[in-house]
Amino acid sequence: MSQPATAMPLLLAFTPELADLLRPRRCLVRYPLDRRASIKDIIESLDIPHTEIGEILDSNGRPLDFAYLPQSGDRLTVRGPQAPVRLSTPTLLRPTTLSEARFLADANVARLGRLLRLVGLDTAVVTDEADEAIAERAAAEKRILLSRDRDLLKRRIVQHGRLVRAAEPYRQLVEIVTLYGLSSHLAPFSRCAACNTLLEPVDKATVLHRLEPLTSRYYHTFTRCPRCERIYWPGSHRDRLRARLAQAGIRI
Ligand SMILES: [Zn+2]
Repeated sequence: MSQPATAMPLLLAFTPELADLLRPRRCLVRYPLDRRASIKDIIESLDIPHTEIGEILDSNGRPLDFAYLPQSGDRLTVRGPQAPVRLSTPTLLRPTTLSEARFLADANVARLGRLLRLVGLDTAVVTDEADEAIAERAAAEKRILLSRDRDLLKRRIVQHGRLVRAAEPYRQLVEIVTLYGLSSHLAPFSRCAACNTLLEPVDKATVLHRLEPLTSRYYHTFTRCPRCERIYWPGSHRDRLRARLAQAGIRI
């Protein structure tokens, strides 16, 4: 069913972080209501994935859900998520809650995935799976899908996701820790960066034969991944991670 030819355009007011996603950047969009479409479909046709929307409000400030069918002359406000996002609180847009912040990093943010593991956050990283399989895995494993691919995040099955805005991996890490309010939930160096498994303490004597001479000389505490057998010790990479996070006010 089409709208009458006299339908007034829909006026959409986007908050700044969403305006940044529009091409060209703008806060106000006049959208001709020449077809019957849900507000979700309309916003996604402007290339903003539904995962980036925290709230849709009508002109009286009442929240709307994604299925809302805009009417002639509607003026709606579309907001991004408010940090810290409370994953365990159901909202009109996201009725399915998550009990904890676990992530699935797409291949285009694989380095972010490794950094999330280094600060102790449960993060799966995909390499060459098809979009459909990635989206289904995120939903099935109740993981927040992290990607720079808008089309992947537009998939209906994806409820919790983030179009990662920063380009540089350490900045991406700060973006995610801040968005989900995780700075007090980090357990740095507790998880294998290569395979996501929780590390176990191991005696130096047990792994001595696998250490370089300088490592065995200067380091005395070690952890080992029970799955892939990698050995970890405090080193310059830890200092670098600490320093980069400290610049953003995150202490680990
Ligand atoms: Zn491992």
